[in-house]
Amino acid sequence: MPSKTPPSGAESRTGRKNADQITEDIKTSKIDTMTETTTKPKKSPATGQTLLSYGVQPYVSIDGENYMSEAQLVHFRNILNIWKNALLQGGDETIHDLKESAEIPADISDQATQEETFALKLRTRDRESKLLKKIEESIELIDNKEYGFCNECGEEIGIRRLEARPTATLCIDCKTLDEVRERQRG
Ligand SMILES: [Zn+2]
Repeated sequence: MPSKTPPSGAESRTGRKNADQITEDIKTSKIDTMTETTTKPKKSPATGQTLLSYGVQPYVSIDGENYMSEAQLVHFRNILNIWKNALLQGGDETIHDLKESAEIPADISDQATQEETFALKLRTRDRESKLLKKIEESIELIDNKEYGFCNECGEEIGIRRLEARPTATLCIDCKTLDEVRERQRG
């Protein structure tokens, strides 16, 4: 195995995984709510803003609480269900729109626009159904009490990361590595 060179800062002296640090930070409430450990500002629609706009507050751990305790599982099941319902409602609207727009016969230029809109809506639907499947899978993981751990390395994904991306199946380290590989392939 190639050995990782430690960052020049003194921060990660133990070389332990991020998750430990995150747990540590949560205990001492050092983590800024909703921000990822990496650099990106909270911009993407799939981040904590969604969570908050659904009326769900960030989880506050009790001292000495285990990772993925019963209360935490309830918290994430709640988030996933709210998200799922919101998507399902949105999906209904899309189907409704599709029917509606199919009924209107239009002139040629309108037809082109209509086809584009149609294609766009289908793509959105496709994305939504994939997301729904992911949400279902995450709920299943909660049922089996396997939720919150990285598929790749088995480490804790972390509460804050999961709140930002409730369907995450990789820890931030493995996800980053995954993206780098993806870029090299693509
Ligand atoms: Zn991992």
